[in-house]
Amino acid sequence: MKTTYLPKLARGEILGAVAISDPATSSAEEPPACAVVTDEAIRLRGTKRFVVGAVGAGLFIVYASTERGAHDRPPGRMLLAVPSTTPGLTVAPRDPLVGVRASGSAALEFDDCVVPTAMVIGQASEARRIGKELLASADLVVAAQAVGIGTAAMEKAVERARERETDETLVGSHQSVQFMIAEMQLQLNASRLFVQRAVDARSESDSAYQAAQAKAFAGRAAVETADRAIHILGGDGSLADHGIERHWRDAKTCELNPSTRESAQLLVARHLLEEVS
Ligand SMILES: Cc1cc2nc3c(=O)[nH]c(=O)nc-3n(C[C@H](O)[C@H](O)[C@H](O)COP(=O)(O)OP(=O)(O)OC[C@H]3O[C@@H](n4cnc5c(N)ncnc54)[C@H](O)[C@@H]3O)c2cc1C
Repeated sequence: MKTTYLPKLARGEILGAVAISDPATSSAEEPPACAVVTDEAIRLRGTKRFVVGAVGAGLFIVYASTERGAHDRPPGRMLLAVPSTTPGLTVAPRDPLVGVRASGSAALEFDDCVVPTAMVIGQASEARRIGKELLASADLVVAAQAVGIGTAAMEKAVERARERETDETLVGSHQSVQFMIAEMQLQLNASRLFVQRAVDARSESDSAYQAAQAKAFAGRAAVETADRAIHILGGDGSLADHGIERHWRDAKTCELNPSTRESAQLLVARHLLEEVS
């Protein structure tokens, strides 16, 4: 599997996507993805959702629960690679996301999708460990994304504050606006430092903790920065054709993806509590 897919992924000949999230409610119509394991193959059924890059991906890394299979193996977790061309796998229509709409997020539906056992990446604790590493990498990517989105929003607000006059006074000369600009810059620079620190810690044992800190802080900072930027543009900030509302919509997704802000905060707190216990 590695020799077939890794070179293609590295050369960009195929794109990969990660399918971890289950449907919001487990129902008969939309059950979470589940793998039935036999000696010969894995049979996948159910749904994964919000898979970024699903539209156009050539290979999916799927995190599934397992049912009892051959030799009465206990139920657990499994991480496996599933090529997009596998019979029984359907990519649903693109999600109508509030932001990052170009991300090509969609649900995956597995209808008795048979995958060879050679495509298993990890099982049980190994699957959980790799899953956590994937989430830590995604936290870091989204934290950096949040810095970029916030910076774009701030640049538009500063430009506007330097140009727009009301009653022959520049918007940027109002102290209340200056406070907002300073706060945006403080939050964005702090986010940058968090991201840089998390990048430096990539091979350290606390890399997930560093990435979660960066993501929890930078996601909120981007939302607050975009909010202030819209405010500085006044009524124009609410118009879609100024492009600044897009930064707010994009920023909001950074608080929800890959984990929510609360999940990242829990990871930070639990890391610290473990250290003192
Ligand atoms: C733009 C975008 C891209 C995404 N990309 C991917 C992807 O590529 N692959 C993938 O698998 N998934 C992806 N997701 C899904 C994302 O990982 C989930 O939406 C996220 O983990 C939250 O899960 P949920 O939607 O089930 O929310 P829920 O778990 O239902 O959470 C709902 C609310 O409850 C809160 N909450 C839940 N549990 C706790 C708790 N213990 N303590 C405090 N608060 C709690 C949450 O913080 C949240 O506010 C993406 C989502 C978005 C928006």
